[in-house]
Amino acid sequence: MPLSPLEQKVLDFVDEQEVAGFLQGLVRAKSVFPPGDCVEAAEYCAALFAREGIDYKIVADLPERPSLLATLRGKRERPQLAFNAHIDTVSIENPDAWEHDPFGGEVVDGVLYGRGAGDDKSSVTAQVLAAVAIHRAGVQLGGTLVVNPVADEESLGAHGAQWLHDTGQLAPDMLIIGEQTNNVVAIAERSINWLELVIHGEAAHGAMPWNGVNAIKQMARVIDYLQQEYEPLLAQRTHPYLPPSTMNLGTIEGGIKTNMVPERCRITLDRRVPPGETIETITGELCDVLERFSREVQTINFELNVLYSSGLPLETSPDDPLVRVMQQAVSDVAASLTGEQRPLTGYNQGSDGRFFAGDGIPVLIFGPSHPDVGHSANEHVSVAQVVEATKIYALTALRALQAE
Ligand SMILES: [Zn+2]
Repeated sequence: MPLSPLEQKVLDFVDEQEVAGFLQGLVRAKSVFPPGDCVEAAEYCAALFAREGIDYKIVADLPERPSLLATLRGKRERPQLAFNAHIDTVSIENPDAWEHDPFGGEVVDGVLYGRGAGDDKSSVTAQVLAAVAIHRAGVQLGGTLVVNPVADEESLGAHGAQWLHDTGQLAPDMLIIGEQTNNVVAIAERSINWLELVIHGEAAHGAMPWNGVNAIKQMARVIDYLQQEYEPLLAQRTHPYLPPSTMNLGTIEGGIKTNMVPERCRITLDRRVPPGETIETITGELCDVLERFSREVQTINFELNVLYSSGLPLETSPDDPLVRVMQQAVSDVAASLTGEQRPLTGYNQGSDGRFFAGDGIPVLIFGPSHPDVGHSANEHVSVAQVVEATKIYALTALRALQAE
């Protein structure tokens, strides 16, 4: 649909050089986890809001992990649309693998390199500069826009988005999480569930293994059984926008000495599940499988514990008004110009959106950069894609909050 003169005016305030420059400065404001110190990155964003005269506050559960809440107040307080993207990044595991300074934000042939270039500082840039463009154009929105550059995402969010959610400081009616989706609108995300399985055997001298029960050998059979009997069932649980239900065997430990029969073996499992599964069904089902193994294959003495659960999987209806508005914005800013299709998708990783999954509000995930480049060496993003995302964010806010 054609842009209105007001929409065009707002988008004209999105400037490629400014987008690249802001992202470059944000990449240089190092905020790696560990330790997850986001003070410099938060102050960098705050400085722009201050220069532009946009209302903001810095809020922090832990002093070194501050987040920002910037507000464009409209004619009415509600509805409220929130943009959230994280300012912390993962660390640099292998500096030699980088061809550019990971904290330089170097731009080569229209591509900006650096830790956080994709995950997630390009999304922060798009969201912040979208709000700036709306503000500069002097638009009064029909509702309120909140921009939330947030800390602590890479360390599970207890002092970031989860804290803001649980204390009611961030309670929007509509939420868009900035994460790498290549500027495609994502409307679903699996939940994250970490379990530990411990098998208890009986210790004995390694010279007389018949006197003990070898927990490692039992675990080996259990792992094989899970692979044969359980994982194929998970693969059948599909979803239109998500990968199927999965189980990753992440760690294993057991035994203390070569000349002893190990009395304990422990594995940890990462279960990512689409809507329909809960932590109760996950643990109940796995217990049933292990009890069946114990009855039919070999008696085991096991313990199953939940280490972490992110709560409910995220799912927003494709017919939700916010989804339609953002899809139209994608089409008007980008897709219609090139003729390409950008059908809705799901987000394969985990985002801060999970804390809002039970709130009955639409939660979308959208941002520049390819999902695979986050956390890797030579992380990068195309500047043009960040510009495109900035315009899509701005247009979505204008239409979702009905500026006249
Ligand atoms: Zn991220």
